[in-house]
Amino acid sequence: SKRILVVGGVAGGASAAARARRLDEHAEIIVLERGPHVSFSNCALPYFLSRTVADSADLVMMDPAQFKKKYNIEVRTENEVIAINREEKTVTVKNLPDGKEYTETYDALILSPGGEPILPGAIEGIRNENVFGIRNVVDIAKLDAYIRDRKAEDIAVVGGGFIGCEIAENLVHAGYKVTLIEAMDQVMTPFDYDMAQILHKEMLDNGMTLILKDGVKKIGSNAIELSSGRQVKADAVVMAVGIRPETTLAKNAGLAIGETGGIKVNANFQTSDPSIYAVGDAIEVFSRLTRKPMRLALAWPAQMEARAAADHIYGIRNQQKGFIGSSVIRIFSLLAASTGLNEKAAKAAGIPCEIAYVIPSDKVSLMPDAHPIHVKLVFETPTGRLLGAQAIGKGEADRRIDVIAALISMDGTLEDLKNMELCYAPVVSTAKDAVNMAALVGLNLLHGVYRQVPLTKVRELVESNACIVDVREPGEYNAGHLLNAINIPLSQLRQRMDEIPKDRPVYLHCRSSQRSYNAIMALQHCGFDNLYNIAGSYLAICLYE
Ligand code: FAD
Repeated sequence: SKRILVVGGVAGGASAAARARRLDEHAEIIVLERGPHVSFSNCALPYFLSRTVADSADLVMMDPAQFKKKYNIEVRTENEVIAINREEKTVTVKNLPDGKEYTETYDALILSPGGEPILPGAIEGIRNENVFGIRNVVDIAKLDAYIRDRKAEDIAVVGGGFIGCEIAENLVHAGYKVTLIEAMDQVMTPFDYDMAQILHKEMLDNGMTLILKDGVKKIGSNAIELSSGRQVKADAVVMAVGIRPETTLAKNAGLAIGETGGIKVNANFQTSDPSIYAVGDAIEVFSRLTRKPMRLALAWPAQMEARAAADHIYGIRNQQKGFIGSSVIRIFSLLAASTGLNEKAAKAAGIPCEIAYVIPSDKVSLMPDAHPIHVKLVFETPTGRLLGAQAIGKGEADRRIDVIAALISMDGTLEDLKNMELCYAPVVSTAKDAVNMAALVGLNLLHGVYRQVPLTKVRELVESNACIVDVREPGEYNAGHLLNAINIPLSQLRQRMDEIPKDRPVYLHCRSSQRSYNAIMALQHCGFDNLYNIAGSYLAICLYE
């Protein structure tokens, strides 16, 4: 019978071992894990800080005894694999409690060692006892104990990616004063700059301090100094600036490493040695959109890659067409989901593209819990192929993005999204869902039905005294409007067309772009041909500026 060794016993490792068992009742399967726990929920770690998860022990889903009983899989925790000896097909393992080393043979070896939090050595004080990187149950319990025992008040979280944002939010819920520091000009890079503004506002509205475009220079016991010289009070510092794939074992064994720094694998997740597979955060995958390698440190890829690797050991081939990258985060009252390429990434990849930005209601607006949902769709021109989407709102942004992710995975186009027949009742959506609307706007733009300017251009338009027509009702206009914008409500447009100039470009907006679209269509039918809709309209402009 086969002997399968698995390095790492969490998302990828545990999935690979369990799948291998389902395919072969007689294989000898051993999982070697350096830490004290296997099969824990990394993704739920931040929620212990706020006690959304009441006990850190609850984060661990299965222990070695359960693995043995349920799956006949031998799990050895606190056993670190320190070398792979490819010629003999063995690994050298160190039993951490007693320091003894031993070897184990394998027919197939699956590496799922993950990635470690980056702690930049250039930061003075990075090894201080009040600095934490979060990767596992031990880390989160240590942070939690430290801040409770020391009665910490101010905590700095460095890095505005998924982990940084989730840790920061949970610390706010736990009652700490939290400063989130991010070196770039925005948090959450799966989102474009314009969409990220919605997240920034939500963080600020919930009492977080947000510092962008600044880095950490020096960490002290209750304050940190930023590159700008600014001092920030911090009794504890959580470093979440990214993860480095754990490739040392693979490198030392001479396995090929890809250009992104992850272990190189083929479509069946075999490394450059066909007996050794690698999955999860440690590898690089192929992007089906840019046709280039990329790293994707997320749980879905880790689990599906693990399954595919185990399958391939048993001759089942994986139909691997490449990854697109889909993810979601909750930030206070908002869900923010994205899939595929954002506008910035599509442009950086040299793909000709255009965007549709709609802000419809996520449910029929008569419903008491209806809220606007911001949907930004990125599509290739002139083909209309869907490249990516971002959705943010209080409602089900994830469901919207899942629909688009499904289509992108099938090379879908704007037409496919327009025709996507989705379920509807007023309590859950609108008859024509937000994603259908985004497709309709995209098709209008693709076919030149009307033109738009991005909201990033609004400041320039205002400053250059461009002709901006606000088609909202007077009450809305009086409550706040763009400087120098003329108010011609859609309801009065047909009587007041002569107030709109024909000799220069006219930029129209309303609250969410829907009324301004109607205004543009009416005006175009009456001979106006130099009109632009401001994408995102007032709702997005207010968040952006
Ligand atoms: P891991 O799950 O990290 O497992 C690797 C294991 O290998 C580790 O336990 C390590 O100790 C062990 N190991 C390493 N080297 C050795 C060795 N030489 N010998 C023995 N053992 C070794 N993803 C999402 O999709 N959604 C989320 O909401 C989300 N939230 C997250 C929140 C946090 C705080 C964190 C840390 C991650 C989150 N992720 C999320 C990412 C997701 O958890 C990872 O992508 C996934 O766990 C990767 O699986 P993996 O098997 O590659 O690595």
